[in-house]
Amino acid sequence: MITIVGAGLGGLTLANVLHRNGITAVVYDADISAASRPQGGMLDIHQETGQAALQAAGLLEAFGKLTLEHGDAMRILDKTGAVRMTHDGDGLRPEIDRGALRNLLLSSLRPDLVRWNAQVTGISREASGFKLSFADGRVATTEILIGADGAWSRVRPLVSEASPFYSGISFVELRYLDADRKHLTAAALVGKGLMFALSDERGIFGHREPNNELCVYAALKVPADWSRQPISRDLLHQHFHGWHADFHEVLANSDGDLVPRSIWMLPEGHSWPRTSGVTLLGDAAHLMSPFAGEGANLAMIDGADLARAIIAHPNDIERAFAAYEATMFPRAREAAAESAAGLELAFEANAPQAMLDFFTPKG
Ligand SMILES: Cc1cc2nc3c(=O)[nH]c(=O)nc-3n(C[C@H](O)[C@H](O)[C@H](O)COP(=O)(O)OP(=O)(O)OC[C@H]3O[C@@H](n4cnc5c(N)ncnc54)[C@H](O)[C@@H]3O)c2cc1C
Repeated sequence: MITIVGAGLGGLTLANVLHRNGITAVVYDADISAASRPQGGMLDIHQETGQAALQAAGLLEAFGKLTLEHGDAMRILDKTGAVRMTHDGDGLRPEIDRGALRNLLLSSLRPDLVRWNAQVTGISREASGFKLSFADGRVATTEILIGADGAWSRVRPLVSEASPFYSGISFVELRYLDADRKHLTAAALVGKGLMFALSDERGIFGHREPNNELCVYAALKVPADWSRQPISRDLLHQHFHGWHADFHEVLANSDGDLVPRSIWMLPEGHSWPRTSGVTLLGDAAHLMSPFAGEGANLAMIDGADLARAIIAHPNDIERAFAAYEATMFPRAREAAAESAAGLELAFEANAPQAMLDFFTPKG
């Protein structure tokens, strides 16, 4: 039996492609149920990675029906509120609500194969594989173990001593319901898809979501423990001192709580020697900052590639894992470098100039 820890986008893509090819895998997840935690945020799904993975899972057509029209439109502003660049979007990287994508992946799996409320708290190596201990005292054993359990993976220590380090950037998430009626300033700033307002080594990023909702991140270069203090609107106003009044209106008037999200990453090029019976995918393998928009896409293509490697080597899991890792390591290294460069561009002193240059065709 193949055991996957983590029913995120990566683990579920793996389970789907295996299932479609007649191979059963059980997936354990700490969440109480599929609906227990808001998944939040929009994801742009790239052709070569996320869309290719959905194709392998037989879900590309269904995905197309769930995407947000014009969600890939983009505008770049500066702190004066001046719009420095607009892009209408070309539909090549369609945007989808993260929860809708997870539900799509769940919809084609046998429900009994995804075990909710199963938080793995310990893993030990046994003579014939691995013993997993769960928070409620249950145990399970498996010969083949795949860690798809995200940033703070419990499986990762079996293959690597690496652990995530703070990127230097923390986000505060703000949400706006019924935005086109109740939050006109935020709706105008965000536009049809994505908005990046950058200046003074900080940013306000926004994107449109289904149901006339907006998500905005206030992004700050602050110490790792900054988000442990109570985050107030006053604190945000102070950090954006000198920014146009429209941004302050947006910071003042969101719905619900301010949710801090500090950004962590694994070392660029994180890899490990082939380790019998176990491998990792997605954030567990290569957590990176979101400035290349690749994390979810990579998790999904990792899942699809790993499934294809297992299908190609049905009786030799070590060859399958080695083939998968040989593809995954360089791909993740490249994306991590891209995301580190994106972070630099966004938070440099004369932003958004470098970002504008990046998007301006050369020659
Ligand atoms: C603010 C922000 C914005 C982002 N924007 C984008 C974007 O635009 N595009 C993009 O491609 N990526 C984006 N990302 C990155 C993306 O969210 C991740 O890379 C992606 O979710 C990784 O998928 P995963 O399946 O590897 O892990 P996860 O989605 O983290 O899933 C891991 C699963 O494992 C479960 N789990 C964890 N620990 C245990 C345990 N001990 N026992 C059992 N289950 C466990 C969790 O409940 C979870 O369901 C963003 C990230 C952040 C923080």
